[in-house]
Amino acid sequence: MITSSPEILSDTAASHAHLAKLLRNGGLVAFPTETVYGLGADACDDRAVARIYEAKGRPSFNPLIVHFADLETLRQHVVWRPEADVLAQAYWPGPLTLVLKRQPDSPISPLVSAGLETLAVRLPAHDTARAVLRAFGGGVAAPSANRSGQISPTQAGHVRDSLGARVDAILDGGSCKVGVESTIVGLVDKPVLLRPGGITEDELAQTLGRHLAVRHKAEAISAPGQLMSHYAPDSLVRLNATEWEPNELRLGFGEVECDLNLSESEDLVEAAANLFDYLHQLDARQAGTIAVSPIPHEGLGIAINDRLSRAAAPRDS
Ligand code: AMP
Ligand code: MG
Repeated sequence: MITSSPEILSDTAASHAHLAKLLRNGGLVAFPTETVYGLGADACDDRAVARIYEAKGRPSFNPLIVHFADLETLRQHVVWRPEADVLAQAYWPGPLTLVLKRQPDSPISPLVSAGLETLAVRLPAHDTARAVLRAFGGGVAAPSANRSGQISPTQAGHVRDSLGARVDAILDGGSCKVGVESTIVGLVDKPVLLRPGGITEDELAQTLGRHLAVRHKAEAISAPGQLMSHYAPDSLVRLNATEWEPNELRLGFGEVECDLNLSESEDLVEAAANLFDYLHQLDARQAGTIAVSPIPHEGLGIAINDRLSRAAAPRDS
C-alpha cells in the first residue's frame, strides 16, 4: 500500500510490538539507536533487505550491519572467536560492530553482506532499539535511515523528511545522543580496525592486549566499491546478453529462457533479492561464463548493474 507519509509512533511497548510485526511481514521500520536512526528490515528476508537499498537509493550494495537483542542469537550466525568474546564483554551492548565469518548455514540474506562470506554484527545499547529487537527476536539489518548522500538522521523528523513513505513506520524515541557511527573491528583473520568510531583504537588495543592492524585511510571501507572486489565469481560474466552462446549459463531477467531468472516479472526488488544467491549458484556449476540479460538502469537496477559490472570487470590476477 502506498501512503503519503509513514506512521510516526510514540515509544511504547505497543509500538515495539507493532514494529516487530511489520518486520515479520517484510516491512521497513525506522528506530533510534545510540548512534543514529536505523532503517531496519528482517535480515533473513531477501526482499525486505532489497527494499532497504531501494529506499535509500544507494547506487551500490554496501554490506549492512545486523543488529541483535542478545548474544546467543547473534552467535548462531557467525563463526565466533576468542577475541570476539573479549570485545563483546567489554563493549556490548554498545557502539562496536564486529565483522566475523558467516556461519555457512545462516539464513541471513546474502544481500546483507553483498555476497561476502563475512557478516557485520552488533548488540546496540539504546533501550528503544533493544526493545524492538527483543520483540522481533531475530537479526535486523539496519543502515542509517536516510536517502543515500543525505545527512544521517538523529531525530524521527529527519527520517520522515528524508525517506517519506519509503519507510512503513518510524518509532520516535527522541534525539540520538551522538551521531558518531559504530567502531568496526574485523575478526576474520587478525584483528583489524575497519572503521574508527566512538570506541578508540587505543581502548581496543588495551582490551585485547595487542595492537590492531588499521585499515589504511586510502582503502577505507567507505570508498565506493572497495569491499565489492572481495567477491568475484570464478566464472567470467558477460553483460547485456540478448542471445546466448553455447555452454554459457544464463542469468535472465524478464520473459527469457534461462537457467535462473532474477525476476520474470521484471521486478527490480525481486531481482536484487535473488542476485547474490543466483550468482553463487551459477558460479558453483563452473560454467566458464555466466551471461546476464540486460537490467534497466533505473532505481535498484543501478545497484544491480554496478554489482554485475564489477563481476564482469577484468581480474587483477
Ligand atoms: P552503516 O550501516 O552506515 O554504519 O555502515 C555499515 C558499514 O559497515 C559500512 O561501512 C560497511 O562497509 C561495513 N560493513 C558491513 N558489513 C561488512 C563486512 N561484512 N565486512 C566489512 N565491512 C562491513
Ligand atoms: Mg549512512
